[in-house]
Amino acid sequence: MNGVILPLGELDPHVGMRTVVLQNYPGVPDDTYAVVDAYCADPSCDCRVAYLFIVPQRHPGPQLASITVGWEPLSFYQKWMGSPKGDDTAREFKGPSLMAMTPQSPLAPAFLEIMSAKLQDPEYLDFFRARYYQFKSLLPHQPRS
Ligand SMILES: [Zn+2]
Repeated sequence: MNGVILPLGELDPHVGMRTVVLQNYPGVPDDTYAVVDAYCADPSCDCRVAYLFIVPQRHPGPQLASITVGWEPLSFYQKWMGSPKGDDTAREFKGPSLMAMTPQSPLAPAFLEIMSAKLQDPEYLDFFRARYYQFKSLLPHQPRS
């Protein structure tokens, strides 16, 4: 996760993406929102995190929310990051949470709530886990030195 983050759709434009259709959700305009799933493009990194950018599907603009989610147990991210005990940084990657140091909109907390509910479904979360491995398999392989 130190490297560039790219949407899977940039490596393979045919993959499609998940959408969220909202109607009468408090405080969020009725619309269809695309969930642009992106991953870390460092082929030697195995951080096992999905970055989900929420944008209006029909009139794309700046992302409304940037959400991280990891499917491994929290201990995986703590170990991966070498976090000292009690350090909460790994929790951001386990998520779902709003990404730090990334543009968010006033609607971001609502989208975090919406996506967190969806991601409680193991099948929904597994979709992004599978896409992570698909993404990694599409990266050019770096020669090992
Ligand atoms: Zn990574």
